[in-house]
Amino acid sequence: TSRKSKLPIYEGLERFELVEKIGDGAFSNVFKARDKETGKLVAIKVAQKRELNDKNNTHLHPSLKKRTKATERANILKEVQIMRGVNHNNIVKLVHFSESDDYYYLVLELCEGGELFHQIVKLTYFSEDLARHVIYQVAAGVRYLHEECGVVHRDIKPENILIDPIPIIPSKQKRDLFADEDKEDEGEFIHGRGGGGIGQIRIADFGLSKIIWDNSTKTPCGTAGYTAPEVVSDQRYSKSVDMWAIGCVLYTMLCGFPPFYDESIRSLTAKVVKGQYTFLSPWWDPISKEAKDLVSHLLCVDPNERYTIDQFFAHPWMQQYQGKKDTKL
Ligand code: ADP
Ligand code: MG
Repeated sequence: TSRKSKLPIYEGLERFELVEKIGDGAFSNVFKARDKETGKLVAIKVAQKRELNDKNNTHLHPSLKKRTKATERANILKEVQIMRGVNHNNIVKLVHFSESDDYYYLVLELCEGGELFHQIVKLTYFSEDLARHVIYQVAAGVRYLHEECGVVHRDIKPENILIDPIPIIPSKQKRDLFADEDKEDEGEFIHGRGGGGIGQIRIADFGLSKIIWDNSTKTPCGTAGYTAPEVVSDQRYSKSVDMWAIGCVLYTMLCGFPPFYDESIRSLTAKVVKGQYTFLSPWWDPISKEAKDLVSHLLCVDPNERYTIDQFFAHPWMQQYQGKKDTKL
């Protein structure tokens, strides 16, 4: 096909046959590909080594460029190292890593349903039950990262939350499909036992993740008792950035637009810093006060007051979740 002929050929990726381009990131291209040895479909994230440098650093002195190149290599290797260490249903798995002179290749488990972002666009907004189904799994992945791996994701957003397999959502039904009167059908639908719907959620993109210094998770950095107060408090804050992001994603799923938005980055930043968002009428009018209560505890400017992952799961709105038994926490 014509689309196929436009696909690039990468040195060192001969084992895979590229099928189509599925992702266009700032520093990488992602392709759907077939593993010729196993016949299995995978996703391959390709990051060009040179491009990594040129795009960002045209203003830098050559000696600094060189140093930046080393930093970027370290960042990619860190992403790989983090992904190798994780094993959870709600996190994209790294199958294989390799590199050539010009590229890094991250071979990932394919999430055929694509980005959560696209489903929000398609459905306009989610019912509370569907939003709960999705955010529960996102939070389960985040809890695993925080507690088992000592990793803060730092880039939780609808573009980095993937769906597996392809959701079955008839377009004309939109929100009515998930209307609260029709509990039984809806349960079948959203849990994928019956009509499909949005099944498994997987968190992707560990490019910005950071391994935190946490004595309780036995990460290589943790030295019990010797860690300075500002480091201890920093690690507490750093986990809370993912909780803020969970709040933003939940808000967006429920109404179809993000809590903070402005054409100008300056004004946007000012709004975020002040926590200036509203439950805009009429879109938020039909949404339960429990849902709003949970969102407001996540979009809390003071990280000390923001809900922790345990408070999130204990909240009455999350306690209503029916699919708990299917989700490994
Ligand atoms: P970047 O750091 O460039 O944002 P990502 O890892 O987020 O890179 O990948 C970019 C996009 O590629 C994602 O938003 C998603 O659309 C797609 N993608 C990435 N990994 C997968 C995967 N395992 N399965 C399906 N699509 C993926
Ligand atoms: Mg991304």
